[in-house]
Amino acid sequence: MIDTHSHLSKRLNTTFELPTISKVILAGSNLEDSQENILLARQYPKKILAAVGIHPQENDKDFELLDKLLMENPSIVAVGECGLDFSESYILRDEEIKFRAQISLADKYHKPLIIHARKAVDESIAILHDYKKVVGGVFHCFAGGKKRVPAVLALNENWFIGIDGNITYEIGLEEVVKSVPQDRLILETDSPFLTPVPHRGEQNKPDFVEFIYRKVGTIWGKSFEETEMIVDGNAKRLFQII
Ligand SMILES: [Zn+2]
Repeated sequence: MIDTHSHLSKRLNTTFELPTISKVILAGSNLEDSQENILLARQYPKKILAAVGIHPQENDKDFELLDKLLMENPSIVAVGECGLDFSESYILRDEEIKFRAQISLADKYHKPLIIHARKAVDESIAILHDYKKVVGGVFHCFAGGKKRVPAVLALNENWFIGIDGNITYEIGLEEVVKSVPQDRLILETDSPFLTPVPHRGEQNKPDFVEFIYRKVGTIWGKSFEETEMIVDGNAKRLFQII
């Protein structure tokens, strides 16, 4: 199992024991935790992979530093999470500048993007249409409903839908999963947030991604092993994991 989106951090007091998963990708929310992700990937090279990025509602704007991190650390697997978030008060121009700067970096370093699009899936797709050479990416914790799945997948054949622990308790998400081709789905915990059933109320952790694999397996009518093979193959393809 590969957890393709987590926020393990000394600051968040998360566990670094990862007994059941083969890899976890740490998403960057700001420059501080992007740098911590790189250090953690060095400290736990067998299990942890780093992404670097600035969340749309974070204020960091030092894109030169982000560029430097990417230049000096070729093992970084993705740029993000970046995108647009209209769920709380926001300044579109600010978010768009940050998003476009990070798409340009993904383009420059040939890295996939981890997109955070909250109430802004259509707008995020529209911006991505300006960058035809981006290698691909994932709409993480996808909240666009099944009607927006085709537009994400149409960006190019290397775009994926990311599904989280809320699949274990949100019926509507089952319809989303059913509408995604099996070779375009990846799974993630977003830990320490978004804990799946049967552990709701506890702090989420990468190993709980198992419950998301199991739920998707049930929806697909496939065994856990078959599901794992398909989903891990997708994650390896997108993030170039050997
Ligand atoms: Zn996240």
